[in-house]
Amino acid sequence: MKIIILSRQPQLYSTKRLFEAGEALGHEMLIVDHLKCNIELEKKKPKIYYKGEYLENVDAIIPRIGASVTFYGTAVVRQFEMMKVFSAVESQALVRSRDKLRSLQLLARAGVGMPKTVFTNFTKDVKHVVDTVGGAPVILKLLEGTQGLGVILAESQNAAGSVMEAFNGLEARIIVQEFIEEAGGADIRAFVVDGEVIGAMKRQGKEGEFRSNLHRGGSANIIELTEEEESTALISAKAMGLGVAGVDMLQSKSGPLVLEVNSSPGLEGIEKATGADIAGKIIRYVERNVKK
Ligand code: ADP
Ligand code: GLU
Repeated sequence: MKIIILSRQPQLYSTKRLFEAGEALGHEMLIVDHLKCNIELEKKKPKIYYKGEYLENVDAIIPRIGASVTFYGTAVVRQFEMMKVFSAVESQALVRSRDKLRSLQLLARAGVGMPKTVFTNFTKDVKHVVDTVGGAPVILKLLEGTQGLGVILAESQNAAGSVMEAFNGLEARIIVQEFIEEAGGADIRAFVVDGEVIGAMKRQGKEGEFRSNLHRGGSANIIELTEEEESTALISAKAMGLGVAGVDMLQSKSGPLVLEVNSSPGLEGIEKATGADIAGKIIRYVERNVKK
C-alpha cells in the first residue's frame, strides 16, 4: 500500500514512528507537508499537487494536523477523501475534535461523565457561573488552548471574575469548569484504536502543578484502566467519530470525567510508558480499512 503521513514535521517522534512502522509492514510510506499541497478543483477530478507532481495511487492517509493549521489541514484531508483515499482520521471528526465546546456537547449527549462546565458570554454573572460549577476554586480554559497553555486555576470567585473579564476584553472565548481536586494534578490518557484501548498511561504534573501535560513537565506511567474508565474511553472515541483517539480523563470520586478527546494523540509518551508498538497498531487499522 501507499500511505501518506500528513505532517509538517518529519523529525517528530510520532511521524518517524508511523513511517518506520509502515515500512516494517512492507508499505510505501511518504511524508507530505499539508501546507505545501495545492488543492485542485474541477468537475469530478479532485487532485492534489505537491512539490512539482500530483499525488496519485494513494491508498490511505494518516493526518497529523497541528491545531494552528486545522483549517488548511482539514481541507487537504477532505480533498483526499474526495479522491476516495481512506483517512485514519475523518475530516469531519478532526474539525469536531478541535472545538472543545462542541466536543463536550457531543460527549455529554453520549452520556459520558465530565467536570461540570459552563460557557458564557455574560461576565457580570460571575457568581452564578462559579456556583454552578461547585464554587471556587474553578478552572478556566481558553477554548482554543492546547498542551495545557490557557488552562487557569482561579482560587476565588473574584479571581475567576477578573480572568473572565480580561479574556472577554480580548474577545477570547473561555469555559468555566468544576475543579476536580481529588485528581491530584494527574490525569489518564487512554489510547483508542478501532474500538479498543491499546494502551493507557497516567500523567502526573510536576510538584505544585495541577496540569499534568507532558509539555508542562509532567511524567507518565503505564496503568491498568478500570472497566468504567475503559468503556468511557471507547464511548468517547465513538461519539467523536474517531478511529484513533487519545481520551483524557480525570479520576474522581464519581468515576472517570472526560476532559478532551485528541484526534492526533502523540505517540512518544504512550509508547515509552507502555512499551507497546502503538504506531504498528495504527498501520494495522489502516490496512484493515483499505482492504474493506
Ligand atoms: P489542554 O487541551 O490544553 O491539555 P486540558 O483540558 O487537557 O487542556 O487541561 C490540561 C490539564 O489540566 C489536564 O491534563 C489536567 O491535569 C488539568 N485539568 C484540566 N481540567 C481540570 C479540572 N476541571 N480539574 C482538575 N484538573 C484539571
Ligand atoms: N499533542 C500531544 C498529545 O495529544 C500533547 C501531549 C501532552 O501534552 O501531554 O498527546
